[in-house]
Amino acid sequence: MVSLARRFDKVLIANRGEIACRIIRTAKGMGLRTVAVYSDADRGAMHVALADEAVLIGPAPAKDSYLHIGAILEAVQATSAEAIHPGYGFLSENADFAQACADGGLVFIGPSAATIRLMGFKSAAKALMESSGVPVVPGYHGEDQSIATLQQAADRIGYPLLVKASAGGGGRGMRLVGAADEFAEAVAAAKREAASSFGNDQILIEKHIAKPRHIEVQVFADNDANVVSLFERECTLQRRHQKVVEEALSIGTTAERRAAMSAAARSAAQAAGYVGAGTVEFIADSSGFYFIEMNTRIQVEHPVTEMITDIDLVLEQIRVAAGAELLLEQKDVRFHGHAIECRINAENPVSFRPSPGRILHYHTPGGLGIRVDSAAYQGYEIPPYYDSLVGKLIVHGKTRTECLMRLKRALDEFVIDGIDTTLPLFRALVREQDIVDGDYHIHWLQDFLARAVLEE
Ligand code: ADP
Ligand code: ADP
Ligand code: MG
Repeated sequence: MVSLARRFDKVLIANRGEIACRIIRTAKGMGLRTVAVYSDADRGAMHVALADEAVLIGPAPAKDSYLHIGAILEAVQATSAEAIHPGYGFLSENADFAQACADGGLVFIGPSAATIRLMGFKSAAKALMESSGVPVVPGYHGEDQSIATLQQAADRIGYPLLVKASAGGGGRGMRLVGAADEFAEAVAAAKREAASSFGNDQILIEKHIAKPRHIEVQVFADNDANVVSLFERECTLQRRHQKVVEEALSIGTTAERRAAMSAAARSAAQAAGYVGAGTVEFIADSSGFYFIEMNTRIQVEHPVTEMITDIDLVLEQIRVAAGAELLLEQKDVRFHGHAIECRINAENPVSFRPSPGRILHYHTPGGLGIRVDSAAYQGYEIPPYYDSLVGKLIVHGKTRTECLMRLKRALDEFVIDGIDTTLPLFRALVREQDIVDGDYHIHWLQDFLARAVLEE
């Protein structure tokens, strides 16, 4: 049993799917009692079966269940849970939820509501980073949202540029603008979308970096402002600005660049008054690296960091939330080997159209260095209401070459029948020379998909 300064014995996981299962596993391993919450559509879900207790919180639509703060707090009351882990997505970056937990005397396993609010707003976050000496993508992130000011800023930045919803996330709320005469219309469209999706229509403008890589740094901070960097993850293989494959460490990042990015990420966390696990995202090319945003939660791709550092990030989150100090100092953080994660989505592997339905046959690969974080099982009916991520295959090897060989073998062994999944895409990717060489940028996957013919 891990010793906790601010003891709690029961944690409620305000999430579903593979991340709820993954959190329950660590919490149970620490001797904590676990409470799952579930919607009508998730009666047969794995996280419900894994938890010690489970509470039905509402109908299938997320707004009536997993996003319903009142229903989740009622489940807390009913089960006397003392801490809440929000996972990723859903309420994980909702400052009102973190505040409601704090007001109710509950431990929210994440940073403070104030930090979530600050970093959830890309404009404010970029302004803070700039004043803290962290390099940011050149652009405009001011308060003045008049079209004259925005147009002037855009002309100064130059085209192509990106218009981003300041409150956006999940790859949504972005518009690419190729020339000055498209700008006003793109701003109007982005503002409309931002207002309806995020309840706030502020936008920022960024220079569109042509062929960058997405490289992010995992940071961890305790309540005494000790901040360590657990090095970077490469998440460059994306479709529609969403990550598909992630690896650690990043191929092509020199030791010098790694040290500079780690230092910048630690400065970012310090400036934000950060506590717990967080991710500082950058885009990078040969000219440098530039902050784009900070995610104030556990990331989908955190397992690749765990595989190369042997640090259980959820365990550390729980320890820090319970008031414990970090046991680590920067000089003690070491990495070994290489890890790659493939996001297995219930989707057509080329169009990415969701493919909910029943899994008729399910077999996961095994062997040294193979980890499957999943919420799927044979006979499981994937509901159509939520994100299509059903599991993740994470593979570790002593070298990137060994990792890729193991990944190829593991993908060939993985069987999910009855629905479309992204497995055929990964089987094709591991055979591509550019992937083997690590020679790609954020648009590479889209270009590949335009010419790909995948075998089932
Ligand atoms: P990560 O860096 O962890 O991959 P993502 O941006 O992919 O972060 O988001 C993690 C999860 O949260 C995904 O399941 C995604 O669908 C969901 N998500 C994140 N932001 C939003 C948002 N604004 N609206 C809807 N879903 C979101
Ligand atoms: P989100 O909150 O939706 O994750 P991000 O700002 O993190 O939004 O951007 C998502 C992705 O869009 C990045 O991973 C990157 O691939 C691409 N992107 C973001 N900003 C830029 C930019 N200035 N130039 C080129 N690509 C960008
Ligand atoms: Mg992002």
